[in-house]
Amino acid sequence: MNKFIVLLLPCLLLACASGGETDMAGSSPVSTSNRNSSTGIWRESVDRAMSVEGRPIEAFSIGSGSEHVLFVGVVHGSEPVGQGLLGRLMEEIKTNTATLEGRTAIFVPVLNPDGLAENRRFNARGVDLNRNFPAGNFDAAAKRGPAPLSEPESTFLAMLISKYKPKRIISIHQPLRCINFDGPAAELAAEMARLSLFPLKAEIGFPTPGSLGSWAGRDLGIGVITLEHTRSNDVLEAWTQHRESLLLALRGS
Ligand SMILES: [Zn+2]
Repeated sequence: MNKFIVLLLPCLLLACASGGETDMAGSSPVSTSNRNSSTGIWRESVDRAMSVEGRPIEAFSIGSGSEHVLFVGVVHGSEPVGQGLLGRLMEEIKTNTATLEGRTAIFVPVLNPDGLAENRRFNARGVDLNRNFPAGNFDAAAKRGPAPLSEPESTFLAMLISKYKPKRIISIHQPLRCINFDGPAAELAAEMARLSLFPLKAEIGFPTPGSLGSWAGRDLGIGVITLEHTRSNDVLEAWTQHRESLLLALRGS
């Protein structure tokens, strides 16, 4: 084992620890000068789970503020733009930590890595993860799973919601080109729609039993924003369009 690997090994072990917390002060790409002192020590921790086919699912928690905001991408594997959008947002926060202002942002760029690998909406067992949450309106079916949280991917997101108790959740989907919301998020959704130049839709227009919005938004009372981008997978274009909107979602108002 060469010297570099020996030096690197403890860092790798730390980074791999599920739920482990790493002080990024020494290894963050952010320079000391642009850290926001009001948010305290720059910290990043990672929670990990495995998909049905054994792919890692990661949640990156950035910052140390008391208000938690959860961002989720690629719930549906055929809607890849969320991964790139959330990657851009993470970069923006890391290079300008003032955007956090007392908040902690938790990012799950890809909830459904098996679906993403196959460009398929469902997970590897053919379940629509956005119908598999323990909402009052859950309705068992082959494509919704035999029971709420029957899938490791939806279980992981539910665990994160229980652990971090986010004030609001922003979920990125495609291709309906609108801002939809559930729970106490009407004002934020309206402002995001204005910034993204997308229509605001209080109702998506079809039943969504067992969806994240039904469960976290309507049942648990957490503001849930669903940002439905277009069919385009051009990340730069999407980032240009939604940057201000997503930064507003982080701030909350
Ligand atoms: Zn979707």
